[in-house]
Amino acid sequence: MKTPRALVLMYHQIVPDDAPEGWVPSPLADSRYGVGVRTFARQMACLREHGFATVSLDDWIGGRIPEGSSSPAVIVTFDDGYESDWTLAAPVLESFSVPATFFVSTGYLGSTGMMDEDQLCRLSDNPLFSIGSHGETHRFLTSLPEDSCRLELVRSLSRIRSLTGQTAIDLSAPGGRISRSIAALARKTGYRSVLTSKPGLLRDGGDMDSIPRLPVLNAHSPEDFLRLLDPRSWAFQMDRWVRMAKQSVRSLALGLGVRDRVRM
Ligand SMILES: [Zn+2]
Repeated sequence: MKTPRALVLMYHQIVPDDAPEGWVPSPLADSRYGVGVRTFARQMACLREHGFATVSLDDWIGGRIPEGSSSPAVIVTFDDGYESDWTLAAPVLESFSVPATFFVSTGYLGSTGMMDEDQLCRLSDNPLFSIGSHGETHRFLTSLPEDSCRLELVRSLSRIRSLTGQTAIDLSAPGGRISRSIAALARKTGYRSVLTSKPGLLRDGGDMDSIPRLPVLNAHSPEDFLRLLDPRSWAFQMDRWVRMAKQSVRSLALGLGVRDRVRM
């Protein structure tokens, strides 16, 4: 029997169709990660048209995995906790019955362009969706002393638990910055799994300390999106993705004034 495989897509803000070029909802956002709402809907339709089974992170980790497809299953995730998770992404996901996990930087709840507590709770009330942690302040965990890192992990976990009542919480590392020791600390703190921004294919029984994801970027054309879903084509585009993702992370870090702590 073939080992089940999954691709984890990583989205950020979903952008209204009438937004001007380069628009961002919050100082946390990088426009290169913004995907237009119409494009996003087309991408969800594309998954359906091409026979990709969409599965929740919960079901995948729990071993409830769709069988019989030669294509990898697809898991949809969002980082940061933008208001567009609730206003734009959720209605599209619901209309296609696509499950998703929203990783939220809890310290940003209620700030400009970000979800507030009420929106987060309403998202989590929907059985299609779950909430994960993206840290508390979005500082890169690898740049923090161990005590601050632990505090960041504990505070975010407990806030999500108390707001949603979810017991199993997954972590997506801000900026994709994670190390073996920080992943171990996160697991010890109570996180079920750690997701990275390292592109790759998730295999059944894969490493829960390091779940790979594929960033969906503004620059991705419909053809790029299809290639993203085809591991056989990755060798030809991996360099380009890594370059694009690094540029985005670097400009975000510069925007937040943490240049001295960033080493790409
Ligand atoms: Zn982030």
